[in-house]
Amino acid sequence: SVTVTGAHKRFGAQQVLAGVDLEVPAGEVTVILGPSGSGKSTLLRAINHLEKLDAGHVEVGGEPVGVRRHRGRFKELNERAILAQRGRIGFVFQNFNLFPHLTALENVAAAPVATGRRNRAQAREAARDLLARVGLADRAGAYPRQLSGGQQQRVAIARALALEPGVILFDEPTSALDPELVGEVLAVIRDLATGGTTLIVVTHEIGFAREVADTVVFLDGGRIVEQGPPAQVLSAPRHPRTREFLSRVL
Ligand code: ATP
Ligand code: MG
Repeated sequence: SVTVTGAHKRFGAQQVLAGVDLEVPAGEVTVILGPSGSGKSTLLRAINHLEKLDAGHVEVGGEPVGVRRHRGRFKELNERAILAQRGRIGFVFQNFNLFPHLTALENVAAAPVATGRRNRAQAREAARDLLARVGLADRAGAYPRQLSGGQQQRVAIARALALEPGVILFDEPTSALDPELVGEVLAVIRDLATGGTTLIVVTHEIGFAREVADTVVFLDGGRIVEQGPPAQVLSAPRHPRTREFLSRVL
């Protein structure tokens, strides 16, 4: 599960998150929609502690993110502890962010080795299984530049899975892809959803949201304007801003 409580974040004079409360139960899929600049990426980055909140807090799997309780108060975690924690929260970026000098297999095997979770042989074996799971068993030896965007993104998903995270965050995972490659990546994410992985997905793929999301959240101006099951938020939005947004993306 993921719980965000009272999240506030400003950059200079701009209030980017203005009090976000979000609850994603274990095994559920939440899709976040919202216009450019509404704070979607900042919210995901805060969940992963890539961004430090000005106020509010985040828990993943019941564990506070970026801080620990000490004599009834919160103390900042040190860098090492933050990195360990980040390993339990998968993150898939818009632009894949694979290591260009490593093969697909090495990209997937790298983190489990670096964090001491697995030895090299175990990590490579697990990486083969993960690449098979995203339909890339035959591309294990390819370098990112030899792969299509959709294949690179599937490697990135396999890499996120390699640390067996309790939750995976996706920030517009298909928006950098040619239209004909979007489906293969969404299919992999749909499989994860069916398999019971907790997912938070920022995407403008409304069809995917309708089919896969348990909850759709509409963010605008750093606030959750509306949330609910897809049938309600997407088909019968209550808020005029949600309606206006949907009329532009549909
Ligand atoms: P998009 O759909 O374009 O990805 P978003 O909803 O993900 O938008 P964010 O990336 O969260 O929006 O950004 C929200 C606002 O915060 C934007 O106005 C952005 O310019 C600003 N912002 C984000 N990161 C920083 C930063 N590191 N420094 C200053 N401003 C930032
Ligand atoms: Mg963004």
